[in-house]
Amino acid sequence: MKSRQQFSLQKNNSFAVYATTPIIYYPNSEQDLQLLAAVTSEPFYILGAGSNTLFVEGVTPVIIKPEFLGIHVNETEEYYQVNAACGENWHDLVCFCIDKGINGLENLALIPGSVGAAPVQNIGAYGVEIADFIESVTWFYFAKNKSQQLTQAQCQFDYRDSIFKNALKNKGIITDITLRFPKNWQPKLNYQGLNTLPKNSHARVIMDTVIAIRNAKLPDPKVIPNAGSFFKNPVVSAEQFLLLKSNHPEIAAYQQDNGTVKLAAGWLIERAGLKGYQLNGAAVHNKQALVLTNIDSACGADIKNLALHVQQTVLALFAIMLQPEVRMLGEQGEVTLGAIN
Ligand SMILES: Cc1cc2nc3c(=O)[nH]c(=O)nc-3n(C[C@H](O)[C@H](O)[C@H](O)COP(=O)(O)OP(=O)(O)OC[C@H]3O[C@@H](n4cnc5c(N)ncnc54)[C@H](O)[C@@H]3O)c2cc1C
Repeated sequence: MKSRQQFSLQKNNSFAVYATTPIIYYPNSEQDLQLLAAVTSEPFYILGAGSNTLFVEGVTPVIIKPEFLGIHVNETEEYYQVNAACGENWHDLVCFCIDKGINGLENLALIPGSVGAAPVQNIGAYGVEIADFIESVTWFYFAKNKSQQLTQAQCQFDYRDSIFKNALKNKGIITDITLRFPKNWQPKLNYQGLNTLPKNSHARVIMDTVIAIRNAKLPDPKVIPNAGSFFKNPVVSAEQFLLLKSNHPEIAAYQQDNGTVKLAAGWLIERAGLKGYQLNGAAVHNKQALVLTNIDSACGADIKNLALHVQQTVLALFAIMLQPEVRMLGEQGEVTLGAIN
């Protein structure tokens, strides 16, 4: 199996921060993973494309970067079934499907990263989540040294959450996913920006619209290094929302089916006066306050400190503790944002 020692990860994270790993392994078969079982008794981190990861120290633990490749399509009368390996690029998979007339992923276009990471935080955008299409996930379990299939229900998907961030964290690797797309596809156009499109829009038109909106709204990590939304949108109870609304009548909020209310974290950060705020080389993006950026050779700790400042300022003003969406990695493994996080 390919590996490298004392490897710089600066080109392997979308914040473009400096960090070195003592060793990085590139497994691409189940046999490779079986060889790695011993490595996983020490701190390690599975890295995809690094677009949801912040290295907060100059050194990381051992890195496992799976490079399984391949996309296979099955077709029945009612649906398409697409199996994609974890090392494939997510946006390339979306384009592959749309090119083949397999509709469903168009709202999830241009989300950076690998296929293997997509179920981990249940990637979502424009009213659609990957959970909507997951039929099964192949999971290589280090303790058992073999693969098993997890059904959609077993993945315990939730908003930016899944079993892979909880009970199965650091216990194995997603090697491939199987998605199911019913042929009686219906476009999802409820989301702002898509709701002006004709009801019978082709999936490619929707994808192109999503790409155009994302390019206009989000900084390109290749130009301004970032990891997209740094924080999750907080979900509060109906009572807490009424209290907040009485103090901030214009608060941006989305009613959830279960009676709770999702708030726009970007709105809270902007209202706290932090849009464009800079700390060392790190900055709250001046157009999209939910995105923290590396504007001038910031190190991981600079970005973490900025995130902590944002979290504490929003807490003091709105009594809401923002939770990071980005995964933070120190030398000994994953770390949290603050002592109270
Ligand atoms: C500009 C920009 C826009 C973004 N927009 C969105 C958006 O609209 N919606 C959204 O949901 N996200 C968004 N993101 C976040 C990011 O694209 C997703 O979280 C993506 O899934 C990360 O993929 P990655 O391969 O880069 O993950 P990494 O950062 O490499 O890893 C993320 C997590 O997944 C784990 N992991 C990676 N691969 C595997 C595997 N094979 N098996 C098990 N665990 C694994 C890692 O250990 C880590 O915990 C955005 C990011 C950027 C930079």
